[in-house]
Parts: sequence; structure tokens; C-alpha cells
Amino acid sequence: MKLYSTNNPDHLVDLKEAVLRGLPADNGLYMPCHIPTLKDGFISSLKDRTLPEIAIEVCKTLFDEYIGEEELVQIIETAINFPAPIVSLDKDTHILELFHGPSMAFKDFGARFMGQLMGFFNQGENKELNILVATSGDTGGAVAAGFLDAPGINVYILYPSGKVSDIQEQQLTTLGKNITALEVNGTFDDCQALVKSAFLDKDLRAKMRLASANSINIARLIPQSFYYFEAYKQLEDSSKDVVFSIPSGNFGNLTAGVFAYKMGLPVKQFLAATNINDIIPQYLSTGEYCAKPSMATISNAMDVGDPSNYKRLADIFKQEGSTWNNMKELLTGYSYNDELTRKAVQEVYNEYNYIIDPHGAIGYRALKEYQKKHNVNGVVLETAHYAKFKPTMDKTLGFDVPIPDQLSSLLEKEKVAKNMTSSFEDFKSYLLAL
Ligand SMILES: *Cc1c(COP(=O)(O)O)cnc(C)c1O
Repeated sequence: MKLYSTNNPDHLVDLKEAVLRGLPADNGLYMPCHIPTLKDGFISSLKDRTLPEIAIEVCKTLFDEYIGEEELVQIIETAINFPAPIVSLDKDTHILELFHGPSMAFKDFGARFMGQLMGFFNQGENKELNILVATSGDTGGAVAAGFLDAPGINVYILYPSGKVSDIQEQQLTTLGKNITALEVNGTFDDCQALVKSAFLDKDLRAKMRLASANSINIARLIPQSFYYFEAYKQLEDSSKDVVFSIPSGNFGNLTAGVFAYKMGLPVKQFLAATNINDIIPQYLSTGEYCAKPSMATISNAMDVGDPSNYKRLADIFKQEGSTWNNMKELLTGYSYNDELTRKAVQEVYNEYNYIIDPHGAIGYRALKEYQKKHNVNGVVLETAHYAKFKPTMDKTLGFDVPIPDQLSSLLEKEKVAKNMTSSFEDFKSYLLAL
């Protein structure tokens, strides 16, 4: 399977180039030329397969020619080494917990798989690959953990000093080994500008191999389709249609769900649930895509005003006829403000004694609204552990929510970070001196 750029269907690359480049030079996004359906009988055999076994089958179907079976098994078993269980609130309402990985958010799936895949494609290169990442908080932790010990790869994570939470900072700064944290005296935008300038700099490019671990890398999307199958497998009642409700920002998770659907997973509907950054729900109701500056909310990982995966979704749905009509048939949009998000957190706690984080709460609310009109079996993607948003949770629920050991033990580890100004000259000389 080759991949093309959404800006130029004739620009074809193989998986290695798509993964190592991240973005095509024409500023489009890489997409598989064709999303094949899984073997007959695969869906009915899900119950007999573990999550890694499902992942291996999905990968074999998507890019059989690029990676040998033994190596693929190794990649998957290293990357997908934690579960994605369903917790049933009632017979039609299920929470798919995607936070059992090292950074306690679903981004672990994508980051770990990308780390392994980049390590694999980097074999045989005689120079090390240097990954530069700017983070405003969450992504950095997932990438750091995902690339830890990846052979031949060094990771430099730039984060704005004093502007990430303590837990987030500890996730970036306590791993050591091939992960280096650079604490930038500036904003997230400064960090991003430093990374951008580095990629454009001739001296740096001549001296070292650079790559990004950007969220739009196709290697991050593919593993996010695995857990839709894993969720479906765990549903007991197969008599009703299944819908997935997906709290969304850049829409990578939802796009991966549509990949699973295209591969043969029987899904009736995907609920595109957002906070007040409602670009896609607006598009679904009006047919017009209007990017806007993002607005801050308590579900801040979804504060996105120009969702990058819209291009991929539009590409998938434009196949026959109107993109908008096709998209509306499979996607329903919902958006909620902070007050309704808090109410949903409270409702889930009061009715089911389950603590849901503000992102998952938006997905929950969308599902409940959809279920008023449709008798379906619903799965809400719970994208992060609630303790990552402790101040908001404490305030919303009115008590001190417990922190799991995995997060609290982090706070005791020693922080190691290199201070950096926001001047590109400083960053450049640091990299040149490595
Ligand atoms: C990144 C993130 C999202 C949004 O996911 P997209 O794939 O960008 O739509 C939702 N919830 C949490 C907790 C996240 O970290």
C-alpha cells in the first residue's frame, strides 16, 4: 500500500517515507491509497483474539509489504503493552478506558507505535535520528514515554517553563536515557517556532538527521484504529447497532474510527463530540468549514480551532458524490460548553459512581443525547485519566479526587531539564554542539 498526499493524489510515497517525513512537502497529509477490508470472518473471530493480535491483523492488512511478520509482532508487542478495557455503566452505555498506558491518555497508543515504527525504519541508517517536539503539555509526555529506549533515536522535547502542570513536567523530565527535556524561557508558540526554524535551517540539516513526532503523522493514526475493534469485541449484546462517541479536537481519534469502519467494523454512527470549539459539528450542520481561533475550555486537549484531520476526513468521504452528504451519514456532531461538561461529570458520578474526565464527559453527553432518539449500544472513548485534570475535577465533584500511584510516584522523581532561551541562535548552537 502506497500513501498519497491529500494535496496531490499523484504524490505517492511508501510507509517509511511517510513515517519519517511526517508531513508531505506540499503541506497536505499522508493517506493510504486504499483502505482494505479485513479478511472474512475477522469480525466474528474478534472474541478469540487479544488486543495485540487484533493490532497485528490490522497492520498486516494495511501494510503487509513493508514489515516482516516477526518484526511486526515485535513492534506491536512493545508498543501496545497495556489494555483498553470497557467499563459498562449500564447495558447500553460503555466507557472505553484508553488511559492505561504510561502517560495515562490515549495518545500513548499513537506515540508508542510511532516510536517503534520509526526505530524500525531507522535501522540500517548510520546516523542517529533526532526527534524535535514542542509541547504545551500532554503530547510531550506520551512522546517521551513512547520513544524511550527506541534504538538509534534521540528525542528533544521543548516545553514552556512554568506553563505546564507539575505532573506534565515530571512526565517530560524524569525519563533520562535518549529523552532530553529543554525548558524554554518562553511560551508554547516560542517552542514551536524553535522547532520549525530548526527544520528549515541548512546547517542543522547538513549536520544531523531531524524528524518530527507530529500528531498528524500517519503512524499515530493507525494504532488508534486498533481499539475500536477491541471495544466492539467486549460488547456482550450484539443485537443492537453500535455507535462510538468520540471527544474530539484534531479529530485523529475519530478519523482512526472511520478507518476501522472502512476496514469492516460494523458501526452505525460516530458522534463527533466537541467543546465550544465546534468547527466540525458546525460543518456537519451547515456544510461550511470555518476555522476559528481556538477558545480555552476545561477540556483543553480539545481546544482546536482548525482540526488538522478534517483534510483526511474530507478525503475519505469525497469518494462518491458530495463530501458533506457522505460525512453526515456516518457522523453526528455535538458540542457542549464548560457548564454542561461539568454537569455531565457530576451526572456520571452521581448515577453510576464512575469518575469521568472532562473530555470523556463531553463524549458521554453526546451519547446520551443521541440515545434519546436511537436505541443503540454506545461506547464513549475515555481519552484520559481524570487525575490529569485534578483541579477541575476537585472543583466539579466537590471532593479531593484520588490520584493513582502511577502519577503520584512521578512527583517524587528527580527533574532533569536543560534551560534554554527562546532565541534560535541558542537552540541552534546547542544542537550543533551535540
Ligand atoms: C488529544 C486529546 C483529545 C483529542 O483527540 P483528537 O484525536 O485530537 O481529536 C481528546 N482528549 C484528550 C484527553 C486528549 O489528550
